[in-house]
Amino acid sequence: MVLPQSEKMREECGVAGVFGLKDAGRLIYLSLFALQHRGQEASGIVTFGDPLTQAPHTGRRLHIHKAFGLLVDSIDEGVLNRLHGHMGVGHVRYSTSGGAIVENIQPFQFKTVLGPVAIAHNGNLTNAKKIRGVLESTGSVFQSTSDTEVFVHLIARSQSKVMRERIGDALRQVSGAYSLAIATETALYAARDPSGLRPLVLGKVGAGFVVVSETCALDLIGASFVRDIMPGEVVEISENGLSSWYPQERQELRFCSFEPIYFARPDSLLHGESIYIRRRKLGEILAKECPADAAVVIPIPDSGVAMAEGFAKESGIPLAMGLVRNHYIGRTFIEPNQADRDFGVRLKLNPVRSVLDGKKVIVVDDSLVRGTTAARILRLVRGAGAREIHFRIGSPPITHSCYFGVDTPERENLMAAQHDVDQIRRILEADSLGFLSHDGLRKALDEKPGKSYCMACFNGSYPQDVFAEIKQQPTDAQGPGLFSRA
Ligand code: SF4
Repeated sequence: MVLPQSEKMREECGVAGVFGLKDAGRLIYLSLFALQHRGQEASGIVTFGDPLTQAPHTGRRLHIHKAFGLLVDSIDEGVLNRLHGHMGVGHVRYSTSGGAIVENIQPFQFKTVLGPVAIAHNGNLTNAKKIRGVLESTGSVFQSTSDTEVFVHLIARSQSKVMRERIGDALRQVSGAYSLAIATETALYAARDPSGLRPLVLGKVGAGFVVVSETCALDLIGASFVRDIMPGEVVEISENGLSSWYPQERQELRFCSFEPIYFARPDSLLHGESIYIRRRKLGEILAKECPADAAVVIPIPDSGVAMAEGFAKESGIPLAMGLVRNHYIGRTFIEPNQADRDFGVRLKLNPVRSVLDGKKVIVVDDSLVRGTTAARILRLVRGAGAREIHFRIGSPPITHSCYFGVDTPERENLMAAQHDVDQIRRILEADSLGFLSHDGLRKALDEKPGKSYCMACFNGSYPQDVFAEIKQQPTDAQGPGLFSRA
């Protein structure tokens, strides 16, 4: 029996691109290593280079490696030595069920009349099915089930003689979320959707440039942070330097609020802000909004740690590690006779009886999705002797599905879409339950004019009219599982 997957919402990709740097394949590998939290199902690297000429700004030969699994298990020194060239792109991926096929592993590489192209995508296109139907009806043959392949065909079919115009043509036809790293023989392109839903940052190492999903990847390769790629912006990096343009009308940033709540690494800076500081702030405001009388504040590791720190600071109640996480379980196989309903959670988390026994405790986590894992964790805490459990969640109730590249259950499986707070408290067997308010979330994220967030999974207010897009799609496309996501 395979352990049940975590019930956390899952980010579905991380991207990296390198231009003008020796050993680009190794730099992309290290960048992806830092971005592994954004996708563990599969990874790929495509470099452009020529082992004979070693020219820094061009690369006519493609070197490709793609595999399922974690980077440490799927890429070794021999692979890295074969990834020649000074430029390229890479991708880590988490796929929805049914999408874990080798054809869906990115980057996708393809040939155009202007030369080869490789593309890596984080996000989800809401009109991919419609575009795919049109393209297939006019002769395009798709190789994968990924929405990202739509970009491949749109770029390849554009009539423009200039690659940047071809990319612009493609971007003007798609809706939804995308942060893209695109490599050609002579340039690296970085593009972000007009709402800026998913992150993408630009860095510099010596005379070369890198683009990555999060700044934690820049830190690992010794790159300095230059700036975020802006919503709707396309940046072109070539031997002529860096240029930027906006192929579509500019819109206000609607960054995914789940990036600071959960997805992004706490050591990353996104839009100039420390994720760790934002998470602590979420915990501080949660403590103000939902206080409780208790002896200790316990985080659910790792996602609840920074919020619990903030809660403890604001409330004056000491923080203690009442749950210890085993970081090494991976995809552990267990015997069916060991598979009691709480065993999967106990493999990951072990309660510390000396911290919990006889105490009133506040347990802090970042979010509540299905609620099944939370119920099991609270049972562990109770079983270790906790006298009262006050469960606090550092985000509002999740009531809607995501259409922008995050794997969320359908609404009927979202606990807060089906039950009110007191019903949830009773299901979880907590003595009290508190969620951060919508206003508290906005305050913690410092929302203001020009810097707003998508909060659609909390309030159903999508930054784009996803339902209009979906209504225009073929009938099997009625839901967020429309495509396996990038
Ligand atoms: Fe992020 Fe939720 Fe918006 Fe999806 S719906 S982009 S997870 S805030």
